[in-house]
Amino acid sequence: MNHMAQKFMQQVNALHAYQHALTILNYDAETAMPQAGAEGLADAIGYLSERRYDLLTEQGFLELAARLQQDERQPLYLRREAEELCRQGARLNAVSARDYAAHCALVSRAGAVWRQAKQNNDYQSFAPLLKKLIDSTKDMALAYAPDAPVYDTLLDEYDQGLNTVLLDDFFQRLKQAIVPLVASLAEQPAPDTSCLMGPFPIPEQRQLSRQLMELLGVDEKRCALGESEHPFTSETSNQDVRLTTHYYEDDLIGNIYSVIHESGHALYMLNTDDQLNQTSLAEGAGTSIHESQSRLCENMLGRSRAFISYLLPLLQKLFPAQFANIDSETLYCAINRCQPSLIRINADELTYPLHIIIRYELEKRLFSGDIEAEQLPELWNELYQQYLGLTPPDESRGILQDVHWSGGMFGYFPTYALGSAYAAQFMWAMEQELDVASLLSQGNFAPITNWLRQKVWRWGGIKKPAELLLEATGKEFDAQIYIDYLTEKFQA
Ligand code: ZN
Repeated sequence: MNHMAQKFMQQVNALHAYQHALTILNYDAETAMPQAGAEGLADAIGYLSERRYDLLTEQGFLELAARLQQDERQPLYLRREAEELCRQGARLNAVSARDYAAHCALVSRAGAVWRQAKQNNDYQSFAPLLKKLIDSTKDMALAYAPDAPVYDTLLDEYDQGLNTVLLDDFFQRLKQAIVPLVASLAEQPAPDTSCLMGPFPIPEQRQLSRQLMELLGVDEKRCALGESEHPFTSETSNQDVRLTTHYYEDDLIGNIYSVIHESGHALYMLNTDDQLNQTSLAEGAGTSIHESQSRLCENMLGRSRAFISYLLPLLQKLFPAQFANIDSETLYCAINRCQPSLIRINADELTYPLHIIIRYELEKRLFSGDIEAEQLPELWNELYQQYLGLTPPDESRGILQDVHWSGGMFGYFPTYALGSAYAAQFMWAMEQELDVASLLSQGNFAPITNWLRQKVWRWGGIKKPAELLLEATGKEFDAQIYIDYLTEKFQA
């Protein structure tokens, strides 16, 4: 490594130290911090974010990064990291350090207020902060790209190149396939779901979480399991990954699929190449690709007939009252029951994209200035009625259910739907090389995770999403694969 690259990496390491601290503070806030700690935390996050801003926008550093990005003698990962930090630096440079720090502190405060508001079923207490967050997000997007539609700028932050033209088309095609299918399933007799009635004692559920993580190959020495209001995964390197879940005595399935979903994220982070540690590339190739890995584990693997046949004996051991006399086809039908519901994270695979479409339509209108934060609960309820035929009985199960907006994550939701479509395409490619069903029915995940490690995980953010998908599957993105997958699974 020459002098220039060394100097660059020194600053990359310093940036990472701030990022490391911020990640752990956030994890702590979601899992352990007492409610009254929120103000002090917001101040600390504001301060650390400002120092990180200073490092990332330093003129000399950005010039160095721009030079390294073009320097073909440098290793690929270093050039890509330079490119990525130039991009992040340009975004930050558009706003002042003070405004950026204020935004980060606001996000931190909003998180605490949202948690309370959700508990108290009280949107009004959260609305003023949400409004501030929307304004601040808008200002930052416009400062960076004054001529672009704000929502496109937000989408691009999560998935480079993503925009509303692409998504309008994708969601239109999805709607055309899903809506009639959901309607035709509503006319079928409902599967027997009595085995999923609780109570499922929490200690046994905790034991099951551990078993599932081990089965998937999540290394316990490098990955912690915590509990939070909303499940999530974060990492500081491939040596320290943390995922969370939420236990409810009356909902076993929610925990099972949260743990499998978050394990998909965790496996990605645990299996990036060591050389990417401390760089921003360790975070992966954008949010849609990240969600593709979690949703592949959750749905394509976890909700498959083969895996459920493997899962059943584990459940019979832990919860004999519910599962002793159940066969695996009954469990498969119960778990995959298609039924319009209110809560996104508990939705079945087929109605799930409708939850995303609702959020996408609201976000698009919020950032085009067409609607205001005050109108959200009402519009939310209208769209749930329109797409799912349901009206939330309260705000906790309606507008307040998701953590994302309180975290300033606008433009994030569409990546779940796109991630599912990417997941279907990865699965389609994997099945050409492996007999996935027979591996799953034996609980043998190693060949599957090896495939994903080679094709996806180890690359981290070195390859961009389109390139990664093309090289792993031999095909450019094709939404039809996902539509065919859903149609085939749910028509049967
Ligand atoms: Zn996820």
